[in-house]
Amino acid sequence: MAAVSLIKSNLKHIQDRIQAALYASVPHPVRLVAVSKTKPNSDILDAYESGHRHFGENYIQELVEKVAQLPTDIQWHFIGALQTNKLKSIALIPNLYLVETIDSAKKAIALNKLCAGRLEPLGILLQVNTSTEESKSGIAPDSVVDVARTVVETCPFLVLRGLMTIGSSEHSSLVPNPDFETLKGCKSEIEGALGLKGLELSMGMSDDFETAVAQGSTNVRVGSSIFGQRKKAV
Ligand SMILES: *Cc1c(COP(=O)(O)O)cnc(C)c1O
Repeated sequence: MAAVSLIKSNLKHIQDRIQAALYASVPHPVRLVAVSKTKPNSDILDAYESGHRHFGENYIQELVEKVAQLPTDIQWHFIGALQTNKLKSIALIPNLYLVETIDSAKKAIALNKLCAGRLEPLGILLQVNTSTEESKSGIAPDSVVDVARTVVETCPFLVLRGLMTIGSSEHSSLVPNPDFETLKGCKSEIEGALGLKGLELSMGMSDDFETAVAQGSTNVRVGSSIFGQRKKAV
């Protein structure tokens, strides 16, 4: 039997740890997004061969190049800072599953216009600055209901699927993590105010995904624990 690659065994190990973390929570589906930024196509294909389909990228140029070179049934997640002048490239990617980093009503409205030609509405998450640090992007927790309302009421080519946070690195060892509690609070507020249910929570990375799953995350974004450390600091 061929030896299993390190990437495949890492993926399996992370999936097992997600399942174990679910014992500390109400059972719910958790999607593992393999964050492949700065990593070569060969690494992505290695994970793909084991059946993995959800991959996350941070840079639009890199995402656009990878989309063109890799299988069309990959379900891409955009998880990087969104510049307004790059929204058009985002809207043109047919197999884009989720844009996780919408951080203003203005960008949602601009992206909505650009998505008019898509076969199906584009799924988005609102990024929330749960730690309210000046340096972090994301919507302030007390403004997120208003932005969600704008998306739901005025953006027919977008679908609000949920919320995302990165959180403070200083909180990543805390259990429970206060950033994740804040995101859950935002979700309840939006669901209550707009009559929605089942919004997703994208929270948890290599250092804190188990805590995030135990706190109800439905979408964890794991990079270095699958593909190894990145050279660039990002
Ligand atoms: C890079 C990145 C990740 C993955 O981080 P790791 O610590 O390598 O798991 C997750 N989410 C976002 C938004 C990122 O930029």
